Amino acid sequence: MTTVSQTLSREMERAAERAYPYECVGALFGARPPSGPVITGTMPLDNDSGEDRRRRFHVADRDYLACERRARDAGVELLGFYHSHPDHPAEPSATDLRYAQPLFLYIIISIQRAKYRGQTGCFALNDDGSAFRREPMRVLED
Ligand SMILES: [Zn+2]
Repeated sequence: MTTVSQTLSREMERAAERAYPYECVGALFGARPPSGPVITGTMPLDNDSGEDRRRRFHVADRDYLACERRARDAGVELLGFYHSHPDHPAEPSATDLRYAQPLFLYIIISIQRAKYRGQTGCFALNDDGSAFRREPMRVLED
């Protein structure tokens, strides 16, 4: 079970709405206690995709390294990334699977015509990396 606060979850939803019709992307920071990952911070990143940014996202190497540095400096973990699916469901695509890394969490926020309509999914690779499994996520009031 992954836990995120209502404030952070709203920030991701707003970032996804602002980026419309393009995909937004951002980093997830936090901790991994035995009870499950806890997201304690997010950081919006540039969608650096050289392809159609309405259907693809990419994090530049320098941004990725900056995320790792920021996590280390803050004594937290880089837990994964969030991104949006403009006018598509909050389900991972074949491209999402191809680029996914073990252990990372992937939060997908669906945006319909520039508005968030309550569709968020959280996923992680299964043990052999062949598919995503859905990670239960709970949103806590701050
Ligand atoms: Zn995607």
